[in-house]
Parts: sequence; structure tokens; C-alpha cells
Amino acid sequence: MKIAGNIAALSPYVPGEQPKDAGAVKLNTNENAYPPSPKVAAALRAFDASALRRYPDPEFRALRARIAEIHGARPECVFVGNGSDEILSLAMRVFVEDGGAAASFSPTYSLYRTLAAIRGAKYAEVPLPEDFGWTDPGDAGGADLFLLTNPNAPTSVLYPRAAVERFCASFPGTVLIDEAYADFSGATCADIAAAPGNRNTIVMRTFSKSFSLAGLRVGYCIGPEDGIEALYKAKDSYNVDALAQTLALAALDDLPWMRANARRTAAVRDMMAGELRRRGWDVPDSAANFIFARPAHRPAAEVFAALRERGIYVRHFPGPRTGDRLRITAGTPDEAAALLAALAGTDVPPGGPSV
Ligand code: PMP
Repeated sequence: MKIAGNIAALSPYVPGEQPKDAGAVKLNTNENAYPPSPKVAAALRAFDASALRRYPDPEFRALRARIAEIHGARPECVFVGNGSDEILSLAMRVFVEDGGAAASFSPTYSLYRTLAAIRGAKYAEVPLPEDFGWTDPGDAGGADLFLLTNPNAPTSVLYPRAAVERFCASFPGTVLIDEAYADFSGATCADIAAAPGNRNTIVMRTFSKSFSLAGLRVGYCIGPEDGIEALYKAKDSYNVDALAQTLALAALDDLPWMRANARRTAAVRDMMAGELRRRGWDVPDSAANFIFARPAHRPAAEVFAALRERGIYVRHFPGPRTGDRLRITAGTPDEAAALLAALAGTDVPPGGPSV
């Protein structure tokens, strides 16, 4: 078959493993350990299957109005996608010129690079400093679009708001701030995106993490009206299905539930980070629902494999900046305890006692 050259040459994004074993301790894809709000379950039960005869609202007006209200934005400044991954894919088409370039920090969410390759766009990476903290990307080599994950993944580090704000104000192209994990940090730049004078900054959120709805596939973004309008032009007619619109609205009707789960998750995250540091691991301060941790004694790849054998799934990203660490999702206190117990038997000094 004839396949476009850029796709033939593509190394696809590899999502985390979804183990078949129901007893697995799954700390590898940053899903929420707790169920979505009971209001979501109630809306699902009340959903009338016969309503599926009709196409969904292509402009998801009810959902958009509610999102706008929550963020103090105008509805014209809100776009909703089939997961935030769809918004990233659209952004790559809408904000990057043919033959143009996108850019991001490195390491960051590796899907960005794949989406740029699918678009046939150039891709520039601005290396993060040793501690994964902020560095000013300048004009990122003249890129049309800068993808800025905050807090970053897989590093878990939150960039200071003032630095992000300064960068957005000076960057000539579009800045898309991917706030997939912001609810676990308590910090946001959504107000920058919603501000009337904003010319180039889009803030993106997902229901997949803090709202416990990764299986539903809903994400949204806020930005300048002309940018949002451009996303509408490029989207599929019915990109967010009727059930997803209904259940996302129900989730937004119970923000206290989401916030309570985010707080519980953050407490497990901080406990896990503290205990691993006590054992000699290097763990940067995390503002997300995961940690990015370097084992004290054995190579990360070995610890990853040993955990997997014990039915505990974490994520390992081979590569020069990431290969010596594991990304571990903050699950329930029981899951964290299982992880810490298993590590006591795996991350041990050569020939030495367990930690
Ligand atoms: N951005 C980041 C940084 C992520 O880690 C993820 C989840 N893999 C996404 C976006 C995509 O989330 P979703 O498509 O589920 O909304």
C-alpha cells in the first residue's frame, strides 16, 4: 500500500500497558484511583438510550457554558475535545503552518513529538535543566506553537506561574499550556487564558485525571476567541458524543468530589515521595498525581521489571533524561503500601540487606 512518507517513518506514541490481570496494582497511566462522582453514575443510569438516535450538539453548548462559568471565561473562548489528546492533534493542524514547527521542553509528554511528525511539522526541543525546573525557551527557534505541560509530565514538576506568564507574553506564536494535572497542584494559568487581552495563550484541561473519567474521553481548552473559532473550523462535526457531554456536565456538577479525590491523591503522592527519599531515592517535588523517582540502588529498568513480575505496574521511559527513573502514579494508600513493600525486596544494594 502507498503510505505517506511521514507516517511510514513514524515511531508511534506508546500508551501505558493495560494489564489483563484484575489483581494488578496499576500505577502506570496516571489514572485516578477513585471512582467518578455519584452524580456521574446517576446521570449514566438516567441516560435515555433512545436519545442516541440523534446526533449530539456539535457545539456542546451546555457543557461549554458550564466550563466558561467555572473559569470566568466567555463561552466563545471554550472548546471541547474527544479527550485532550484530540485538542492537541487539532492544535497541531490549526496553529502550525505547513512546513512550520512546534516545540516543547524535553523531557515532556512524548505524544507532542508524534503529533508533529503526523502533521509533517518540524519539532524543536528545549532541554530542561538538571532539576527539571524552569528555563526560558525564548522564541523556541521560531516555532509556531509551544506545548507547555504544567505541571510537567513525566517530571511532575510545576513551573512558577510568573515565569510562564512572562514567557506567554513574549512568545511570538501560540502557547498551549497543557494542565492535565493542574487539579493536583492547586495552581493554574486558566485565568491568563480567559483574560480579555490574551492574544496567544491556550490552557487545556482533561476529565481523565482529577475527574476520574479517562474512559469517557473529554478534554477542553480556553483561549482567545479567534483561536477557539479556528479549532471549531478544523474539528470533526460531532467530536464529543452525547453521553460524554451529559456525563462531563454531571462531573462538573460535583466539583467538591473531584477536589476531595485530588487531595487524597496528593496525600498518597507526598507519603510515597517521602518514604522513597528516606530510602535514598531521588524524588523531585511533585505537583501532579505521580512521582518521577530515581531508585537508590538498582537501575530503573531492573526495578521496573521486578515490580512487573510482582503484578505492580509503573512506567519506565528509556532515554538519556528519563531512563534512570520510574514514573509512579499515586494510587490508594493500599496500592502505595503494596508498592513500597515490593520495593523493599527489589531496590536493594548489591549483596546488601533490603531497605
Ligand atoms: N496531556 C498530558 C500531559 C497527559 O499526560 C495526558 C494523558 N496521557 C494527556 C494530555 C491526554 O489526556 P486525555 O486525552 O485523556 O484527555
